[in-house]
Amino acid sequence: MDIAIINTLIITFEGKGLGIIKAGGLGFEDGKISYVGKMSEFEYKNADLIIDGNNKHATLPGLINAHIHSPLTICRGVVHDIPEGEYMFKGLSPFINQLRSEDSVLGTKLTVIEGIRSGTTTFAEYEGNVRNLVEKVYLPYNIRVVATETINERVHVNIHKPSELYEFNRSKGEESLKRANELFKKFKNNDLVTPMYGPQALDMLTMDFLKEIKQQAISNESKTYMHIAQGARERQQITKRYGKDMTAVKLLKANDLLDTTLIAAHIHDTTTEERNLMVKNNVKMVGCPSAISKVDGIAPPLGDYIRLGGLAGIGTDEAPGSGHHNLFHEIKLASIFAKIAFQDPTILPPWESLKLATISGAEVLGIEDQIGSLKIGKRADVITIDLHQPHLIPIINTPFHNILANLVYSSKGNEIDNVIIHGKPILLNNEFVEIDETSIINEVNNRAQEICENASEDWEKSNSKMVEYHKSGFI
Ligand SMILES: [Zn+2]
Repeated sequence: MDIAIINTLIITFEGKGLGIIKAGGLGFEDGKISYVGKMSEFEYKNADLIIDGNNKHATLPGLINAHIHSPLTICRGVVHDIPEGEYMFKGLSPFINQLRSEDSVLGTKLTVIEGIRSGTTTFAEYEGNVRNLVEKVYLPYNIRVVATETINERVHVNIHKPSELYEFNRSKGEESLKRANELFKKFKNNDLVTPMYGPQALDMLTMDFLKEIKQQAISNESKTYMHIAQGARERQQITKRYGKDMTAVKLLKANDLLDTTLIAAHIHDTTTEERNLMVKNNVKMVGCPSAISKVDGIAPPLGDYIRLGGLAGIGTDEAPGSGHHNLFHEIKLASIFAKIAFQDPTILPPWESLKLATISGAEVLGIEDQIGSLKIGKRADVITIDLHQPHLIPIINTPFHNILANLVYSSKGNEIDNVIIHGKPILLNNEFVEIDETSIINEVNNRAQEICENASEDWEKSNSKMVEYHKSGFI
Protein backbone atom coordinates (compact mmCIF):
# COMPACT_ATOMS: atom_id res chain seq x y z
CA MET A 1 0.00 0.00 0.00
CA ASP A 2 1.30 3.46 -0.91
CA ILE A 3 -0.63 5.65 1.54
CA ALA A 4 -2.97 4.98 4.48
CA ILE A 5 -5.18 7.51 6.25
CA ILE A 6 -6.14 6.22 9.69
CA ASN A 7 -8.42 7.18 12.59
CA THR A 8 -10.61 9.56 10.62
CA LEU A 9 -14.26 10.40 10.14
CA ILE A 10 -14.98 9.50 6.51
CA ILE A 11 -17.72 10.96 4.35
CA THR A 12 -17.80 8.61 1.39
CA PHE A 13 -20.68 10.16 -0.61
CA GLU A 14 -21.66 6.56 -1.35
CA GLY A 15 -24.94 4.89 -0.42
CA LYS A 16 -27.83 6.33 1.55
CA GLY A 17 -27.23 9.71 3.14
CA LEU A 18 -23.62 10.61 2.52
CA GLY A 19 -22.16 7.32 3.80
CA ILE A 20 -20.46 8.47 7.01
CA ILE A 21 -17.94 6.09 8.60
CA LYS A 22 -16.84 6.90 12.16
CA ALA A 23 -13.29 5.82 13.17
CA GLY A 24 -12.46 4.79 9.62
CA GLY A 25 -9.42 4.26 7.44
CA LEU A 26 -8.50 4.52 3.75
CA GLY A 27 -5.75 2.90 1.70
CA PHE A 28 -4.39 3.92 -1.71
CA GLU A 29 -2.42 1.91 -4.21
CA ASP A 30 -1.32 2.76 -7.77
CA GLY A 31 -3.38 5.97 -7.79
CA LYS A 32 -6.58 4.21 -6.73
CA ILE A 33 -8.52 3.61 -3.52
CA SER A 34 -7.75 0.11 -2.25
CA TYR A 35 -9.54 0.27 1.11
CA VAL A 36 -12.28 2.37 2.66
CA GLY A 37 -13.99 1.23 5.85
CA LYS A 38 -13.70 0.66 9.58
CA MET A 39 -10.29 0.84 11.27
CA SER A 40 -11.01 -2.50 12.98
CA GLU A 41 -10.72 -4.33 9.62
CA PHE A 42 -7.95 -2.20 8.09
CA GLU A 43 -4.49 -3.70 7.55
CA TYR A 44 -2.41 -0.64 6.90
CA LYS A 45 0.90 -1.14 8.69
CA ASN A 46 2.89 -1.85 5.51
CA ALA A 47 1.87 1.50 3.95
CA ASP A 48 4.75 3.73 2.77
CA LEU A 49 3.09 6.81 4.23
CA ILE A 50 0.61 6.82 7.13
CA ILE A 51 -1.47 9.91 7.86
CA ASP A 52 -2.98 9.63 11.35
CA GLY A 53 -6.09 11.77 11.82
CA ASN A 54 -6.18 10.97 15.58
CA ASN A 55 -9.98 11.06 15.22
CA LYS A 56 -9.78 14.83 14.88
CA HIS A 57 -10.03 14.79 11.09
CA ALA A 58 -12.68 14.32 8.46
CA THR A 59 -11.77 12.74 5.12
CA LEU A 60 -13.74 13.61 1.99
CA PRO A 61 -13.38 13.03 -1.73
CA GLY A 62 -11.42 15.90 -3.28
CA LEU A 63 -13.76 18.69 -4.35
CA ILE A 64 -14.62 19.37 -7.99
CA ASN A 65 -14.65 22.93 -9.29
CA ALA A 66 -16.89 22.39 -12.31
CA HIS A 67 -16.42 25.83 -13.89
CA ILE A 68 -13.31 27.98 -13.78
CA HIS A 69 -11.34 30.40 -15.97
CA SER A 70 -8.20 30.37 -13.91
CA PRO A 71 -5.76 32.65 -15.84
CA LEU A 72 -7.85 35.68 -14.84
CA THR A 73 -6.99 35.18 -11.18
CA ILE A 74 -4.02 37.44 -11.93
CA CYS A 75 -6.64 40.23 -12.31
CA ARG A 76 -8.45 39.56 -9.04
CA GLY A 77 -10.09 42.65 -7.57
CA VAL A 78 -9.68 44.95 -10.59
CA VAL A 79 -13.39 45.20 -11.34
CA HIS A 80 -16.38 45.02 -9.02
CA ASP A 81 -19.62 46.69 -8.06
CA ILE A 82 -20.23 48.14 -11.52
CA PRO A 83 -23.21 47.72 -13.91
CA GLU A 84 -23.23 44.32 -15.64
CA GLY A 85 -23.19 46.01 -19.05
CA GLU A 86 -19.84 47.63 -18.22
CA TYR A 87 -18.25 44.60 -16.59
CA MET A 88 -16.61 42.83 -19.51
CA PHE A 89 -15.81 45.50 -22.08
CA LYS A 90 -15.09 48.49 -19.89
CA GLY A 91 -14.16 46.84 -16.60
CA LEU A 92 -12.09 43.81 -17.45
CA SER A 93 -10.90 44.28 -21.05
CA PRO A 94 -8.23 46.94 -20.36
CA PHE A 95 -6.45 44.39 -18.14
CA ILE A 96 -7.12 41.28 -20.26
CA ASN A 97 -5.59 43.11 -23.25
CA GLN A 98 -2.31 43.29 -21.34
CA LEU A 99 -2.10 39.58 -20.55
CA ARG A 100 0.66 37.52 -22.17
CA SER A 101 0.61 33.76 -22.45
CA GLU A 102 2.94 33.43 -19.45
CA ASP A 103 0.56 35.57 -17.37
CA SER A 104 -2.19 33.03 -18.01
CA VAL A 105 0.11 30.30 -16.76
CA LEU A 106 0.94 32.36 -13.69
CA GLY A 107 -2.74 33.07 -12.98
CA THR A 108 -3.47 29.36 -13.25
CA LYS A 109 -0.66 28.45 -10.86
CA LEU A 110 -2.07 30.85 -8.28
CA THR A 111 -5.56 29.41 -8.80
CA VAL A 112 -4.30 25.89 -8.27
CA ILE A 113 -2.62 26.85 -4.99
CA GLU A 114 -5.76 28.60 -3.75
CA GLY A 115 -7.96 25.73 -4.91
CA ILE A 116 -5.81 23.00 -3.32
CA ARG A 117 -5.67 24.88 -0.02
CA SER A 118 -9.47 24.94 0.04
CA GLY A 119 -9.91 21.29 -0.96
CA THR A 120 -10.27 21.30 -4.75
CA THR A 121 -8.60 18.41 -6.57
CA THR A 122 -10.35 18.67 -9.96
CA PHE A 123 -10.48 21.90 -11.95
CA ALA A 124 -12.86 22.13 -14.94
CA GLU A 125 -10.74 24.67 -16.78
CA TYR A 126 -12.51 26.58 -19.57
CA GLU A 127 -9.99 28.43 -21.75
CA GLY A 128 -8.75 29.17 -25.24
CA ASN A 129 -5.56 27.16 -25.85
CA VAL A 130 -6.21 25.23 -22.66
CA ARG A 131 -3.49 22.77 -23.65
CA ASN A 132 -0.88 25.34 -22.65
CA LEU A 133 -2.24 25.32 -19.08
CA VAL A 134 -2.50 21.52 -19.05
CA GLU A 135 1.13 21.13 -20.09
CA LYS A 136 2.59 23.97 -18.02
CA VAL A 137 0.57 23.71 -14.81
CA TYR A 138 -1.85 20.81 -14.36
CA LEU A 139 0.34 17.91 -15.49
CA PRO A 140 3.60 19.08 -13.87
CA TYR A 141 1.73 19.74 -10.60
CA ASN A 142 -0.18 16.41 -10.80
CA ILE A 143 -3.57 18.14 -10.64
CA ARG A 144 -6.73 16.66 -12.18
CA VAL A 145 -8.23 18.81 -14.93
CA VAL A 146 -11.25 18.74 -17.18
CA ALA A 147 -9.68 20.67 -20.04
CA THR A 148 -12.36 22.50 -22.02
CA GLU A 149 -11.21 24.32 -25.14
CA THR A 150 -13.16 27.54 -25.73
CA ILE A 151 -14.54 27.54 -29.27
CA ASN A 152 -16.06 30.63 -30.86
CA GLU A 153 -16.40 32.44 -34.18
CA ARG A 154 -16.65 35.99 -32.92
CA VAL A 155 -14.05 38.31 -34.42
CA HIS A 156 -14.98 41.85 -33.63
CA VAL A 157 -16.82 43.75 -30.96
CA ASN A 158 -17.32 47.47 -31.00
CA ILE A 159 -16.62 47.99 -27.31
CA HIS A 160 -18.32 51.36 -27.41
CA LYS A 161 -21.43 49.77 -28.91
CA PRO A 162 -21.43 46.19 -27.58
CA SER A 163 -25.10 45.86 -28.48
CA GLU A 164 -24.23 45.82 -32.22
CA LEU A 165 -24.50 42.36 -33.77
CA TYR A 166 -21.19 40.50 -33.42
CA GLU A 167 -19.28 39.60 -36.55
CA PHE A 168 -18.45 35.91 -37.07
CA ASN A 169 -15.62 34.24 -38.95
CA ARG A 170 -15.87 30.50 -39.52
CA SER A 171 -12.16 29.95 -40.01
CA LYS A 172 -11.45 31.43 -36.57
CA GLY A 173 -13.97 28.96 -35.20
CA GLU A 174 -12.41 26.06 -37.12
CA GLU A 175 -9.01 26.95 -35.64
CA SER A 176 -10.33 26.62 -32.10
CA LEU A 177 -12.20 23.41 -32.98
CA LYS A 178 -8.93 22.03 -34.33
CA ARG A 179 -7.26 22.79 -31.00
CA ALA A 180 -10.07 20.95 -29.21
CA ASN A 181 -9.70 17.92 -31.50
CA GLU A 182 -5.95 17.86 -30.89
CA LEU A 183 -6.62 17.86 -27.16
CA PHE A 184 -8.58 14.63 -27.59
CA LYS A 185 -5.85 13.04 -29.68
CA LYS A 186 -3.22 13.91 -27.13
CA PHE A 187 -4.99 13.39 -23.79
CA LYS A 188 -7.97 11.10 -24.29
CA ASN A 189 -6.45 8.30 -22.21
CA ASN A 190 -4.47 10.44 -19.78
CA ASP A 191 -4.91 9.62 -16.06
CA LEU A 192 -5.29 13.27 -15.04
CA VAL A 193 -6.80 15.01 -18.08
CA THR A 194 -10.36 14.82 -19.40
CA PRO A 195 -10.68 16.85 -22.62
CA MET A 196 -13.97 18.61 -23.41
CA TYR A 197 -15.45 20.75 -26.20
CA GLY A 198 -16.41 24.28 -25.13
CA PRO A 199 -18.59 26.09 -27.69
CA GLN A 200 -18.53 29.32 -25.72
CA ALA A 201 -22.12 30.57 -25.93
CA LEU A 202 -25.00 31.00 -28.38
CA ASP A 203 -24.01 34.60 -29.11
CA MET A 204 -20.47 33.52 -30.04
CA LEU A 205 -21.10 31.07 -32.90
CA THR A 206 -23.53 30.00 -35.60
CA MET A 207 -25.97 27.14 -35.11
CA ASP A 208 -24.39 25.25 -38.02
CA PHE A 209 -21.00 25.35 -36.39
CA LEU A 210 -22.44 24.38 -33.01
CA LYS A 211 -23.96 21.27 -34.59
CA GLU A 212 -20.60 20.40 -36.12
CA ILE A 213 -18.91 20.72 -32.70
CA LYS A 214 -21.57 18.53 -31.13
CA GLN A 215 -20.95 15.81 -33.75
CA GLN A 216 -17.22 15.91 -32.98
CA ALA A 217 -17.98 15.63 -29.26
CA ILE A 218 -20.28 12.66 -29.78
CA SER A 219 -17.71 10.92 -31.98
CA ASN A 220 -15.23 11.31 -29.10
CA GLU A 221 -17.84 10.06 -26.59
CA SER A 222 -17.68 13.46 -24.93
CA LYS A 223 -20.02 16.32 -24.09
CA THR A 224 -20.39 19.93 -25.14
CA TYR A 225 -19.95 22.46 -22.36
CA MET A 226 -21.57 25.86 -23.00
CA HIS A 227 -22.35 29.09 -21.20
CA ILE A 228 -26.12 29.34 -21.60
CA ALA A 229 -28.56 32.16 -20.86
CA GLN A 230 -25.96 34.22 -19.03
CA GLY A 231 -27.67 37.57 -19.13
CA ALA A 232 -28.58 40.69 -21.06
CA ARG A 233 -25.64 40.78 -23.51
CA GLU A 234 -26.29 37.26 -24.76
CA ARG A 235 -30.06 37.76 -24.90
CA GLN A 236 -29.63 40.96 -26.94
CA GLN A 237 -27.49 39.14 -29.54
CA ILE A 238 -29.88 36.18 -29.73
CA THR A 239 -32.97 38.34 -30.30
CA LYS A 240 -31.12 40.46 -32.89
CA ARG A 241 -29.98 37.40 -34.80
CA TYR A 242 -32.91 35.02 -34.40
CA GLY A 243 -36.00 37.13 -33.64
CA LYS A 244 -37.41 39.13 -30.77
CA ASP A 245 -39.12 36.23 -28.99
CA MET A 246 -36.14 33.91 -29.19
CA THR A 247 -34.33 32.78 -26.05
CA ALA A 248 -31.27 30.58 -25.55
CA VAL A 249 -33.31 27.56 -24.45
CA LYS A 250 -35.87 27.96 -27.28
CA LEU A 251 -33.04 28.18 -29.80
CA LEU A 252 -31.38 25.01 -28.48
CA LYS A 253 -34.71 23.17 -28.47
CA ALA A 254 -35.54 24.27 -32.02
CA ASN A 255 -32.17 22.93 -33.19
CA ASP A 256 -32.49 19.66 -31.32
CA LEU A 257 -29.51 20.46 -29.09
CA LEU A 258 -31.12 20.07 -25.66
CA ASP A 259 -30.00 16.64 -24.52
CA THR A 260 -27.94 14.65 -22.06
CA THR A 261 -24.64 15.52 -23.77
CA LEU A 262 -25.06 19.23 -22.95
CA ILE A 263 -23.51 20.86 -19.87
CA ALA A 264 -24.98 24.33 -19.29
CA ALA A 265 -23.14 26.91 -17.20
CA HIS A 266 -25.09 29.62 -15.38
CA ILE A 267 -28.62 29.63 -17.02
CA HIS A 268 -29.74 32.49 -14.78
CA ASP A 269 -31.59 34.15 -17.69
CA THR A 270 -34.13 31.30 -17.96
CA THR A 271 -37.71 30.82 -16.76
CA THR A 272 -38.77 27.92 -14.51
CA GLU A 273 -40.58 26.42 -17.54
CA GLU A 274 -37.33 26.53 -19.54
CA ARG A 275 -35.39 24.97 -16.67
CA ASN A 276 -38.03 22.27 -16.44
CA LEU A 277 -37.56 21.55 -20.13
CA MET A 278 -33.79 21.35 -19.63
CA VAL A 279 -34.21 18.93 -16.70
CA LYS A 280 -36.63 16.76 -18.72
CA ASN A 281 -34.05 16.60 -21.51
CA ASN A 282 -31.32 15.61 -19.06
CA VAL A 283 -29.21 18.73 -19.56
CA LYS A 284 -26.65 19.13 -16.76
CA MET A 285 -26.22 22.49 -15.03
CA VAL A 286 -23.26 24.22 -13.39
CA GLY A 287 -23.88 27.24 -11.17
CA CYS A 288 -21.41 29.86 -9.91
CA PRO A 289 -23.13 31.67 -7.01
CA SER A 290 -20.38 34.18 -6.10
CA ALA A 291 -19.56 35.29 -9.63
CA ILE A 292 -23.11 35.58 -10.92
CA SER A 293 -24.44 37.38 -7.87
CA LYS A 294 -21.52 39.79 -7.79
CA VAL A 295 -21.38 40.52 -11.53
CA ASP A 296 -25.08 40.31 -12.45
CA GLY A 297 -26.89 40.83 -9.16
CA ILE A 298 -28.66 37.51 -9.68
CA ALA A 299 -28.56 34.27 -7.72
CA PRO A 300 -28.04 31.31 -10.08
CA PRO A 301 -31.02 28.94 -9.99
CA LEU A 302 -29.15 25.97 -8.50
CA GLY A 303 -31.80 25.28 -5.86
CA ASP A 304 -34.56 25.40 -8.46
CA TYR A 305 -32.72 23.10 -10.85
CA ILE A 306 -32.25 20.48 -8.14
CA ARG A 307 -35.84 20.92 -6.89
CA LEU A 308 -37.01 20.19 -10.43
CA GLY A 309 -35.01 16.94 -10.39
CA GLY A 310 -32.01 18.19 -12.38
CA LEU A 311 -28.35 17.35 -11.88
CA ALA A 312 -25.98 20.23 -11.04
CA GLY A 313 -22.39 21.02 -10.17
CA ILE A 314 -20.76 24.17 -8.83
CA GLY A 315 -17.83 26.38 -9.82
CA THR A 316 -16.09 29.65 -9.06
CA ASP A 317 -15.86 31.03 -12.64
CA GLU A 318 -13.21 33.79 -12.83
CA ALA A 319 -11.70 35.53 -9.83
CA PRO A 320 -12.36 39.16 -10.85
CA GLY A 321 -16.02 38.03 -10.80
CA SER A 322 -16.25 35.63 -7.88
CA GLY A 323 -13.35 37.06 -5.89
CA HIS A 324 -12.12 33.57 -4.94
CA HIS A 325 -11.79 29.87 -5.79
CA ASN A 326 -12.95 28.47 -2.47
CA LEU A 327 -15.65 25.84 -3.00
CA PHE A 328 -16.70 25.83 0.65
CA HIS A 329 -17.77 29.46 0.19
CA GLU A 330 -19.64 28.54 -2.98
CA ILE A 331 -21.51 25.66 -1.36
CA LYS A 332 -22.60 27.84 1.52
CA LEU A 333 -23.76 30.63 -0.79
CA ALA A 334 -25.63 28.17 -3.04
CA SER A 335 -27.47 26.86 -0.03
CA ILE A 336 -28.32 30.27 1.39
CA PHE A 337 -29.34 31.80 -1.95
CA ALA A 338 -31.67 28.84 -2.59
CA LYS A 339 -33.32 29.26 0.82
CA ILE A 340 -33.83 32.97 0.18
CA ALA A 341 -35.16 32.40 -3.36
CA PHE A 342 -37.88 30.07 -2.09
CA GLN A 343 -38.24 31.67 1.35
CA ASP A 344 -37.91 28.10 2.58
CA PRO A 345 -35.10 26.98 4.91
CA THR A 346 -35.50 23.32 3.90
CA ILE A 347 -34.27 23.93 0.31
CA LEU A 348 -30.76 22.67 -0.52
CA PRO A 349 -29.79 21.05 2.81
CA PRO A 350 -26.09 20.18 3.46
CA TRP A 351 -26.35 16.64 2.05
CA GLU A 352 -27.53 18.16 -1.25
CA SER A 353 -25.22 21.17 -1.38
CA LEU A 354 -22.07 19.13 -0.56
CA LYS A 355 -22.88 16.83 -3.47
CA LEU A 356 -22.64 19.79 -5.85
CA ALA A 357 -18.88 19.85 -5.32
CA THR A 358 -18.43 16.05 -5.17
CA ILE A 359 -20.43 13.24 -6.70
CA SER A 360 -22.98 15.42 -8.56
CA GLY A 361 -20.19 17.56 -10.00
CA ALA A 362 -18.48 14.39 -11.20
CA GLU A 363 -21.71 13.15 -12.80
CA VAL A 364 -22.23 16.51 -14.54
CA LEU A 365 -18.75 16.25 -16.07
CA GLY A 366 -19.22 12.56 -16.91
CA ILE A 367 -16.35 11.31 -14.72
CA GLU A 368 -18.32 9.80 -11.82
CA ASP A 369 -16.77 6.39 -12.50
CA GLN A 370 -13.38 7.96 -11.57
CA ILE A 371 -13.99 10.55 -8.85
CA GLY A 372 -16.59 12.27 -6.65
CA SER A 373 -16.96 9.60 -3.96
CA LEU A 374 -14.75 7.30 -1.90
CA LYS A 375 -15.11 3.76 -3.17
CA ILE A 376 -12.62 0.96 -3.82
CA GLY A 377 -11.30 1.21 -7.37
CA LYS A 378 -11.97 4.94 -7.80
CA ARG A 379 -9.08 7.39 -8.22
CA ALA A 380 -7.33 8.33 -4.97
CA ASP A 381 -8.36 12.02 -4.88
CA VAL A 382 -8.86 12.78 -1.21
CA ILE A 383 -8.75 15.69 1.23
CA THR A 384 -8.53 15.69 5.01
CA ILE A 385 -9.98 18.45 7.14
CA ASP A 386 -8.73 19.40 10.59
CA LEU A 387 -11.94 19.63 12.62
CA HIS A 388 -10.30 20.76 15.85
CA GLN A 389 -10.84 24.46 15.24
CA PRO A 390 -13.05 26.71 17.31
CA HIS A 391 -15.54 27.30 14.49
CA LEU A 392 -15.97 23.56 13.75
CA ILE A 393 -16.36 22.31 17.33
CA PRO A 394 -18.24 20.40 18.69
CA ILE A 395 -18.06 17.27 16.55
CA ILE A 396 -21.15 15.28 17.41
CA ASN A 397 -21.51 11.67 16.26
CA THR A 398 -24.20 10.41 18.68
CA PRO A 399 -27.17 10.26 18.27
CA PHE A 400 -26.62 11.96 14.90
CA HIS A 401 -23.80 13.63 12.93
CA ASN A 402 -23.39 17.43 12.82
CA ILE A 403 -20.39 17.26 10.47
CA LEU A 404 -22.34 18.01 7.28
CA ALA A 405 -23.97 21.11 8.74
CA ASN A 406 -20.65 22.34 10.14
CA LEU A 407 -18.81 21.81 6.86
CA VAL A 408 -21.43 23.78 4.90
CA TYR A 409 -22.37 26.53 7.33
CA SER A 410 -19.30 26.92 9.56
CA SER A 411 -16.14 26.00 7.65
CA LYS A 412 -13.93 28.62 6.04
CA GLY A 413 -12.30 26.26 3.58
CA ASN A 414 -8.83 26.79 5.06
CA GLU A 415 -8.96 23.80 7.40
CA ILE A 416 -7.65 21.41 4.73
CA ASP A 417 -4.34 19.90 5.85
CA ASN A 418 -3.74 17.01 3.45
CA VAL A 419 -4.54 16.74 -0.25
CA ILE A 420 -3.87 13.65 -2.33
CA ILE A 421 -4.48 13.51 -6.08
CA HIS A 422 -4.29 10.26 -8.01
CA GLY A 423 -2.50 8.72 -5.04
CA LYS A 424 0.15 11.42 -4.87
CA PRO A 425 0.44 13.78 -1.87
CA ILE A 426 0.18 17.42 -2.99
CA LEU A 427 -0.32 19.02 0.43
CA LEU A 428 0.95 17.30 3.59
CA ASN A 429 0.43 18.75 7.08
CA ASN A 430 -0.56 22.04 5.51
CA GLU A 431 2.62 22.33 3.40
CA PHE A 432 2.93 21.88 -0.36
CA VAL A 433 5.11 18.89 -1.12
CA GLU A 434 6.57 20.17 -4.41
CA ILE A 435 4.83 23.38 -5.42
CA ASP A 436 6.79 26.52 -4.49
CA GLU A 437 3.91 28.54 -3.10
CA THR A 438 5.87 31.59 -1.93
CA SER A 439 7.59 32.25 -5.22
CA ILE A 440 4.32 31.95 -7.17
CA ILE A 441 2.60 34.41 -4.83
CA ASN A 442 5.47 36.89 -5.20
CA GLU A 443 5.64 36.48 -8.95
CA VAL A 444 1.91 37.04 -9.45
CA ASN A 445 1.94 40.02 -7.15
CA ASN A 446 4.77 41.72 -9.04
CA ARG A 447 3.44 40.94 -12.49
CA ALA A 448 -0.13 42.03 -11.61
CA GLN A 449 1.23 45.41 -10.61
CA GLU A 450 2.91 45.75 -14.03
CA ILE A 451 -0.26 44.69 -15.83
CA CYS A 452 -2.29 47.32 -14.01
CA GLU A 453 0.27 50.04 -14.70
CA ASN A 454 0.34 49.12 -18.40
CA ALA A 455 -3.46 49.10 -18.54
CA SER A 456 -3.94 52.37 -16.71
CA GLU A 457 -4.35 54.64 -19.77
CA ASP A 458 -6.96 52.39 -21.44
CA TRP A 459 -8.66 51.89 -18.13
CA GLU A 460 -9.06 55.62 -17.54
CA LYS A 461 -10.38 56.11 -21.08
CA SER A 462 -13.00 53.40 -20.48
CA ASN A 463 -14.72 55.82 -18.14
CA SER A 464 -16.25 52.94 -16.24
CA LYS A 465 -17.78 53.19 -12.80
CA MET A 466 -14.47 51.86 -11.44
CA VAL A 467 -12.78 55.04 -12.72
CA GLU A 468 -15.48 57.08 -11.03
CA TYR A 469 -14.87 55.19 -7.75
CA HIS A 470 -11.18 55.98 -8.12
CA LYS A 471 -11.80 59.68 -8.75
CA SER A 472 -14.05 59.77 -5.68
CA GLY A 473 -11.21 58.36 -3.59
CA PHE A 474 -12.90 55.02 -2.80
CA ILE A 475 -10.38 52.79 -4.54
ZN1 LIG B 1 -17.48 30.80 -17.68
